[in-house]
Amino acid sequence: MIAQNFEYSAPTNLKEALKLLDAGEAKALAGGMSLIPLMKLRLATPEQVVDLGRIPDLNYIRQDKDVIRIGATTTHYEVESSALLRASCPLLAEAASNIGDIQVRNRGTIGGSVAHADPAADYPASLLALEARVILASAKSEREMPIAAFFVDTFTTALEPGELVRELIVPVQDKSEGSSYQKVAQPASGFAIVGIAARIRKSGGKVSFARVGVTGLAGKPYRAANVEKAVEGTAGSASDFQKAAAVVAEGVEANSDLHASANYRKHLASVYTLRALTIASSRTA
Ligand SMILES: Cc1cc2nc3c(=O)[nH]c(=O)nc-3n(C[C@H](O)[C@H](O)[C@H](O)COP(=O)(O)OP(=O)(O)OC[C@H]3O[C@@H](n4cnc5c(N)ncnc54)[C@H](O)[C@@H]3O)c2cc1C
Repeated sequence: MIAQNFEYSAPTNLKEALKLLDAGEAKALAGGMSLIPLMKLRLATPEQVVDLGRIPDLNYIRQDKDVIRIGATTTHYEVESSALLRASCPLLAEAASNIGDIQVRNRGTIGGSVAHADPAADYPASLLALEARVILASAKSEREMPIAAFFVDTFTTALEPGELVRELIVPVQDKSEGSSYQKVAQPASGFAIVGIAARIRKSGGKVSFARVGVTGLAGKPYRAANVEKAVEGTAGSASDFQKAAAVVAEGVEANSDLHASANYRKHLASVYTLRALTIASSRTA
């Protein structure tokens, strides 16, 4: 399949890119892992494609006090292999290492992935469990929001026309904290049929803090606040985690497709929540 004709530009700074995106029917191109197939299938027919790949200001991972700032065009491989993230935000590095295959991780970017908002994408579970924030930039202004507000629905985000994801902000994880991302991968693509991210902290023999993010199960990723509440204050025993994991899909309208029915996805969600909680707990200091 051949894409419809389009204008291509490759600006070398953010200001120029935002100006181009502000004018007309333009689409940002990052890794192209999702956009190019959509264009070839003519499901996306932008008149102008603005390549973000030559803007050095969008590619970085750096610590800023107690947070880590990640530029939008940072690739999945760069997230996976970053010494800073592995040491200080291992949950995100673990999620990145689970994406597709090495070719996809070498090209695909964190900004492109969140902007695309595929309900089976891996990052959202970890970003929600990390209570990440996202910075959106346009030619006129810039705004920051919690990642939970950014994911609106299936393939739908809070991005306005002309706006770009500029940066993701994740916390430096507490040294005593354990975390884990566990997924059931669709065998051909690697996309998450269900993916669960968990963070656990313990104090005085009890779970003092729990965060759980879920991807793949529903139309949009979500934080399982009911699981967190069920875990916090317990001793974190196998049966505590089992009881908590059992409620992860409560009240959720689960996706159903040729890979997994809604009921099977809900079952997988409980099993993988239990796994993620157990492994996160075993990694606490
Ligand atoms: C074979 C295959 C297997 C895959 N497996 C997985 C998997 O297991 N898990 C997983 O999570 N993902 C998987 N993916 C998707 C992959 O992670 C993509 O990298 C990601 O969805 C899109 O990122 P990209 O950088 O390629 O964006 P692009 O394809 O370039 O863009 C995607 C969309 O986001 C927009 N966009 C891009 N950057 C920005 C920005 N900074 N601000 C605003 N809008 C922007 C584009 O305009 C477009 O609409 C797979 C993809 C393929 C092809």
